[in-house]
Amino acid sequence: MSESLATVSYIGATILFVLSLGGLSNPETSRRGNLYGMIGMTIAVLATVFGPRVSAAGIPWIIAAMVVGGGIGVYAARTVQMTQMPELVALMHSLVGLAAALVGFASYFDPTSTLTGVEKSIHEIEIYIGILIGVVTFTGSLIAFGKLNGKIGGAPLTLPGRHWMNLVGLLVVIYFGGVFMNSHSIADGILPLVVMTVIAGLFGIHMVMAIGGADMPVVVSMLNSYSGWAAAATGFMLSNDLLIVVGALVGSSGAILSYIMCKAMNRSFISVIAGGFGTAGGSTAPKGDALQPAGEVTPISSAETAEMLREAKSVIIVPGYGMAVAQAQHTVYEITKYLREKGVNIRFGIHPVAGRMPGHMNVLLAEAKVPYDIVLEMDELNDDFPKTDVVMVIGANDIVNPGAQDDPNSPIAGMPVLEVWKAKTSIVMKRSMASGYAGVDNPLFYKENNRMLFGDAKKMLDEVLTALKT
Ligand code: NDP
Repeated sequence: MSESLATVSYIGATILFVLSLGGLSNPETSRRGNLYGMIGMTIAVLATVFGPRVSAAGIPWIIAAMVVGGGIGVYAARTVQMTQMPELVALMHSLVGLAAALVGFASYFDPTSTLTGVEKSIHEIEIYIGILIGVVTFTGSLIAFGKLNGKIGGAPLTLPGRHWMNLVGLLVVIYFGGVFMNSHSIADGILPLVVMTVIAGLFGIHMVMAIGGADMPVVVSMLNSYSGWAAAATGFMLSNDLLIVVGALVGSSGAILSYIMCKAMNRSFISVIAGGFGTAGGSTAPKGDALQPAGEVTPISSAETAEMLREAKSVIIVPGYGMAVAQAQHTVYEITKYLREKGVNIRFGIHPVAGRMPGHMNVLLAEAKVPYDIVLEMDELNDDFPKTDVVMVIGANDIVNPGAQDDPNSPIAGMPVLEVWKAKTSIVMKRSMASGYAGVDNPLFYKENNRMLFGDAKKMLDEVLTALKT
């Protein structure tokens, strides 16, 4: 393939990636967006592999790597559960970071490099920064992976003087950057490069360890952004324009998503990164100063739930992580269909951080074919709860916690929540009294107009559906 054909292909791929991002901004166009992305990536890979910069001798190696990588990808896509998606995404981000770091080392040791003077210096800056971003992304994403799948506890690691440690680390990295740039041979440059790599790795670990459970959504989107910048850095090191553009697209869209997540959680970006917010994830109530809700909960049966739904004129369903765990979305759809046919006004309220990844609930509901026009954002229907007869909270917890508004000592204080307690009746479906991801008890459960339908969401909803139909 000639240089000009490769360039044209790259431009075509870039346009397709932009269209893809545009498509992904709306559930109705997201399939098309995905398709654009897949076509763009196919063109990009073909134009790179068969382009002017890859010699014929390299092609079998690339194909072998693609077969191995593609095989692992197909296996992961087929076996991963929907609830494991966030941790898979975190793992994928770590691989982008690792790739950027390895490309950085490879281009530093490249024996065929003929760069001299300013060009050489610029290339060395690219290498140093590329490895730095890559390693931070790599180790940070690995810790996020551990936190999301529960292997690492959600409690923030608040080491004494941690901000000073970060600052000293940054200064050392800058100092060794100078040493690296002034080194006269590859052998001289190895030491500063290795020192920086170790510090970047420790920084990535420390940065994510210091972030509490409740702030993990921001970390996930932030690492998404980092992986984009790591790819862009790789593009600079390899002088590959497409990789620079694509990396910048991912990096900036991830940064915008992080901003949106911060707004959704009412946190400042800097304070999340500085760490120390949120509490232990898991199933026990926190021991901190947060107010402990008191009182009795009122259980309800699935038959009674069906009765309430049958009599309701307006219903709002609030799905959360438990719906994903139970894979209850298809039964949710069946119930929705049934009630809509009976003339009930039924809608879904989606919190921006519901589930374990941005858009988690939207993906599940779309998979179950719930019409998009009844799936609304939190801001679109938070004022409608007082006019609602029944709210069904399906496996959600933190996102409907009134403590976020009422209790200034709560770890999720200030986070906007769906105000389900303002409806005539709210029914919370979950298996036990366990807390959600943020590890905070939920005063909603004890409210007078709240009922608890205990059990696996799928099982209970199946029972509700059967009761509705008989
Ligand atoms: P939560 O984690 O607050 O609560 C989920 C609830 O689901 C649990 O209390 C659990 O209770 C219940 N549950 C689990 N399995 C089942 C089941 N099989 N059937 C019925 N219920 C079940 O989830 P939310 O969606 O309300 O809130 C999301 C939380 O995750 C927030 O704290 C957010 O910050 C955090 N987070 C979000 C990310 C994102 O990008 N969206 C990323 C990382 C974290 P029980 O065990 O009693 O059944």
